[in-house]
Amino acid sequence: MRLVRRSGSAVWQLVWLGGEPDPRVLQLGFTLLLVVEACLRVLGGVPLSEGRQVPAAIAAATLLAAAVWWVPSPRRRAAITVIAILDIAILGLALLSSEDGGLGLLVVLPALWLGRRYGERGAVLAVGASLALVTVPGLVVHGGEGAAATYLAMMPLIAGVSAVAISAGLDVARSAQARAERGECELARALETIRAQQHTSQAIFDAAGVGLMLLDRDGHLVAMNERYGDFVSLSLPEGRGLTWPGDTFAADGVTLLRADDVPSARAARGEQFDDFRMWSGADPRTRRAVSVSARHAEGEDGGFIGAALAGTDITDLMQALAVKDQFVALVSHELRTPLTSIVGYVSILLEDEDLPAHVIKQLAVVARNTERLQRLVADLLQEQQPGGAMPVERTRTDLGAIVRECVQTAGTAAERAGVELSLRSPSALWVDADAHRFAQVVDNLVSNAIKYSLRGGRVDVELRARATEVELVVADDGIGISEVDREELFTRFFRAQDAHDRAIQGIGLGLSITKSIVESHGGRIEVDSEIGRGSEFRVVLPVQIARLAS
Ligand code: ADP
Repeated sequence: MRLVRRSGSAVWQLVWLGGEPDPRVLQLGFTLLLVVEACLRVLGGVPLSEGRQVPAAIAAATLLAAAVWWVPSPRRRAAITVIAILDIAILGLALLSSEDGGLGLLVVLPALWLGRRYGERGAVLAVGASLALVTVPGLVVHGGEGAAATYLAMMPLIAGVSAVAISAGLDVARSAQARAERGECELARALETIRAQQHTSQAIFDAAGVGLMLLDRDGHLVAMNERYGDFVSLSLPEGRGLTWPGDTFAADGVTLLRADDVPSARAARGEQFDDFRMWSGADPRTRRAVSVSARHAEGEDGGFIGAALAGTDITDLMQALAVKDQFVALVSHELRTPLTSIVGYVSILLEDEDLPAHVIKQLAVVARNTERLQRLVADLLQEQQPGGAMPVERTRTDLGAIVRECVQTAGTAAERAGVELSLRSPSALWVDADAHRFAQVVDNLVSNAIKYSLRGGRVDVELRARATEVELVVADDGIGISEVDREELFTRFFRAQDAHDRAIQGIGLGLSITKSIVESHGGRIEVDSEIGRGSEFRVVLPVQIARLAS
């Protein structure tokens, strides 16, 4: 097997297709082929020529092979040119014999070596050497006629074609190799860039101040940075063998989330959401509040291919909100008792008919403002109710009378603000509702409409009864509310930027209370508004609870 492999590589070297050939192998191969040709001739019954040119050529080739052996290795490469020309001369010598045989074909080998070494110049060299060393001496000896002459004339041609063929083939091979090397270089550069980008992305992923988690299309975890890992390990402490939801709680910090409701499960179903608040961990000393947002990624066909979640630590914010709630509750409770006492004593004082008129007037102002304070405290306390549920006491109530009374009371404020106030309402509209709460709704909406109107503006209040519902509309042509602010309008303590900028008084509780009251009645509140053009608030109560009086 090894012998076959070695012979194969020797033949390969002989035609010089691999890398750098060994001139010793070239010359040995050439000599062997000469010998083989002579042996075949003898075996075929063709006698070697009388002039002994072929044995002499074999002897010369053998001597050359031996001589090459002694050439020091650094010079061997250069020796190939000399060997090639000498071998053509040896062929010339052999072809001086009268028997031509197949010897002439061996000119291909030195021609290949020259072509391989010098390209087109090698082809010229091969043609010149064959012409000078084979064709001309042959023709001189054998004469210019007959088959031998044609055969000799063909020698330079065969040598030239062989040299050109190998040189052209080499050019093609070289440019293909150059292309391949360029391609390899580009590929290596691209790989390096990708690797660098991967490292950068990983560094950004890990250094991000928010927790990040990536899921694949099946909802399996693809990657998670350290920060998100911290939240997860608080929910699923190691060694407890917990599975989702583990110790994951809703925003109230008490209600345990269901496995289906944890953000990763929702994102895996393709849901997208923002600011989903939850608590990770059960230990009050170490638990963290997290706000999670999720977005899904879509493939080219628009299908779901994965999701990304971002979790921000909002523990400080949640604690601050809790402290604020506690503070507000405390202050409201503490204010309630002295306020009740003030209201009581002022009303006793007002019953004293001997008081001078100006004192009665001043006491009335005290009474009005104390009542305002009492309402404010009541609102604040109402907001502290868990879940914001508003207890309603339904009685048979005339909404028409309530709206009329509220608008009448607001008349003074409207006049002071230079706002025209109008009302359209049925004279009576009897329904089952909480009269006190409904009055609160009308008061809040009408006082807001006046407060946020400009001098010379107008506020229209309308109460309508429809087949299936009752609708209260309060419209103004005041400052209006931007789209961004409209989204937060019913959030506790929210005040639009415009209200702040214009220093209009308020604490941002009225609308959130109004919404709670309306929803406790099974109704809904809607708003249309445009900055600078005004606002329209619509309260719709379903007829199931707002039964119309006949
Ligand atoms: P407050 O009026 O005490 O600030 P509300 O809860 O009643 O609180 O209203 C919340 C915010 O909504 C207000 O601060 C104001 O910016 C905006 N707003 C409410 N009603 C109107 C209105 N009719 N026109 C313009 N802005 C309004």
